[in-house]
Amino acid sequence: MTNGTVQVTNDYALQLDNLDEFKDYRNEFYLNPGSIYLDGNSLGLMNKHSENKVSEILNDWKTLGIDGWTQGTYPWFFISERLGEMMAPLVGAEAKEVIVTGSTTVNLHQLVATFYKPEGKRTKIIADELTFPSDIYALKSQLMLHGYDPEEHLIRVKSGDGRFIEEDDIIKEMTDEVALIVLPTVLYRSGQLFDIQRLTAEAHKRGILIGFDGCHSVGAIPHYFSQWDVDFGFWCTYKYLNGGPGSVAALYVNKKHFGRHPGLAGWYSSNKNKQFDMEHTLVPEETAGAFQIGTPHVLSLAPLISSLEMFAKVSIENIRKNSLSKTQYFMDLIKEELSNMGFTIGNPLEDERRGGHICLEHEEAIRICKALKENQITPDFRAPNIIRLAPIAFYTSYEDIFKTVQILKKIMLDKQYEKYENKRGVVS
Ligand SMILES: *Cc1c(COP(=O)(O)O)cnc(C)c1O
Repeated sequence: MTNGTVQVTNDYALQLDNLDEFKDYRNEFYLNPGSIYLDGNSLGLMNKHSENKVSEILNDWKTLGIDGWTQGTYPWFFISERLGEMMAPLVGAEAKEVIVTGSTTVNLHQLVATFYKPEGKRTKIIADELTFPSDIYALKSQLMLHGYDPEEHLIRVKSGDGRFIEEDDIIKEMTDEVALIVLPTVLYRSGQLFDIQRLTAEAHKRGILIGFDGCHSVGAIPHYFSQWDVDFGFWCTYKYLNGGPGSVAALYVNKKHFGRHPGLAGWYSSNKNKQFDMEHTLVPEETAGAFQIGTPHVLSLAPLISSLEMFAKVSIENIRKNSLSKTQYFMDLIKEELSNMGFTIGNPLEDERRGGHICLEHEEAIRICKALKENQITPDFRAPNIIRLAPIAFYTSYEDIFKTVQILKKIMLDKQYEKYENKRGVVS
């Protein structure tokens, strides 16, 4: 749509907005008038139907008490499966391969506890050195549970430039000492999108299981986990999926692994018809549902219902096209308007390798973020020098992007950032 011939005018942004097939969805979200929200990759905004879903569930509790489990508008006993089914198309899985449960980190623990089976000299796990810390902590603690020294048994594939990890470098580490690989779909800082299909094929050629953390892609980028034969996946629902703070996460298990005993079992791992038999011998469900542990956090899944209903109206492929167009427009404007001001675009430029956010590097990033906030723009800071800016298909307009770049330019020209302290907040 922009083709390197971007016009630096507000009118042009409005023209693009006019052609935006997602433009009407913007009205379905709570946006603060006069402000611009570019942090949907950390916490997606609330859609206006979410409140109703929370109220419906509270009302079921109010009027039905315990019977809400089977007779609620969304019977709570089956709600995790129902949402898993709604989520499945977003990752290219069959309905039974996805369950909405737990949290990202808990699901990672569950999946590693299930799929990491060290044997003989195959004891190592591959991750990468740019991965989100929680994933690394979880992997190290799983290794320690097995009595292994994480320094020796966790391979963190190195980055050449601190931004990207080359797939070839990951493949080089896939030796016969490796039992399991856990990688992000998209790196949380630079937004690099991995070639999931290729990495999966290469791992399988060498008899290694592989799973992906989809926190930074699910809801923005289509995946085809079943077709690619990915072994397992897990992701949060509060970033691109707009499920709300602390909303219940999701996991995917390839159906070829159904029947595996969950590493961390609980009564919700049970075959649903047998769960209330209260036997001490677990008969796990023959679906991804087997990887649930306990009672679903019903109130924390309520907003996700309305969000997934919205996703069901559009195609994830079109969301991706829209997101790519908006990140391209963002980069074009940055190149036109912010050159020679110390900025570097730190995300991959190619469509096939770019995630849903722009990674803008600047040595004054922290103070620039504070100035943006004062100008009613919400960015996302990642130490030491990254400003993450995520245009969201559903609710970010081209005009938002245009205005953001104009305000950034003014912040730099007026040196507005100089009045702030160079210190990050507790949450950034
Ligand atoms: C957001 C994110 C998490 C967060 O994990 P929680 O258990 O939801 O706190 C983990 N990993 C990655 C890659 C993330 O982006």
